[in-house]
Amino acid sequence: MTAKIIDGKLIAADLRARVADEVARVKRDHGLTPGLAVVLVGNDPASEVYVRNKHKQTQAAGMASFEHVLPADVAQADLLALVAKLNADPAVHGILVQLPLPKGLDTETIIASIDPAKDVDGLHPHNAGRLAGGLPALSPCTPLGCIILTKSVHSSLEGMDAIVIGRSNLVGRPLVQLLLNENATVTIAHSRSRNLPELCRRADLVYAAVGKAEMVRGDWLKPGATVIDVGITRLPAADGKTRLVGDVAFDEAMKVAGAVTPVPGGVGQMTVACLLVNTLRAACAIEGLPAPGM
Ligand code: NAP
Repeated sequence: MTAKIIDGKLIAADLRARVADEVARVKRDHGLTPGLAVVLVGNDPASEVYVRNKHKQTQAAGMASFEHVLPADVAQADLLALVAKLNADPAVHGILVQLPLPKGLDTETIIASIDPAKDVDGLHPHNAGRLAGGLPALSPCTPLGCIILTKSVHSSLEGMDAIVIGRSNLVGRPLVQLLLNENATVTIAHSRSRNLPELCRRADLVYAAVGKAEMVRGDWLKPGATVIDVGITRLPAADGKTRLVGDVAFDEAMKVAGAVTPVPGGVGQMTVACLLVNTLRAACAIEGLPAPGM
């Protein structure tokens, strides 16, 4: 048996195109240009690549993109002042502070200072609480992408057994809430879970968000399961360069699962596309327009 490869690149491109259509519509009908402000502190090379990518894709969708780069030794008060300015700026509908922040800055305080209506990363306690309460909320982008990828295989997740491995605020926990909203039955596993392979083998839907290269083996999977691999680890490659691998042993999974996301080309592609969706949603909500149809 060979599993279907879930093409995150294609699905993300389709989503970005739909966002661009909706942006064109709100511009035409309401004179609204959704705006996203991204704040980068320091010069972490991976973060710089992410921010550049977000900037390019935001502009390509027809939105306004505002980039703010601050030095790694910026005072917390100065970063808070920038967030306050963006909170008050009517041209900005979404604010994203790129994580991780350099040492010396308190991530929780910074996130809590973002206006929840503009919190397009979905990490503000207001949005996390609403999501946990089953209320409409801006939800974190990577878990949103995981749900879209799963729904490219299964139109309904109702009653399916899902396991989420990893319980971070960024991925695992919000993903559990989104799966509950889809009426899946969810197990959440973490570093203290016992019998992880056994728990996995029960699941129709496996989400791995750990950060441990190829931890989930083929014999952990129920035949036909759908596997969404969030993990990204950079390993040395034979040619002296590096390669990206996920949390799932891809070749093994392909022999057992029904559908698998590759790394790269799976979940990673969806994260920025969902950031654009969240920015459009935030802009419509702030301006009192109906929610976009996506
Ligand atoms: P994180 O904050 O480090 O959380 C990792 C989670 O994995 C924790 O809940 C931890 O459990 C759990 N864990 C660690 N070892 C485990 C083990 N042996 N068995 C079971 N669970 C274990 O990481 P994160 O931010 O959620 O990110 C997870 C991965 O996703 C990383 O590789 C990251 O690079 C990737 N990621 C990708 C995207 C994307 O766009 N594709 C976005 C975000 C993250 P405890 O809670 O018990 O410590």
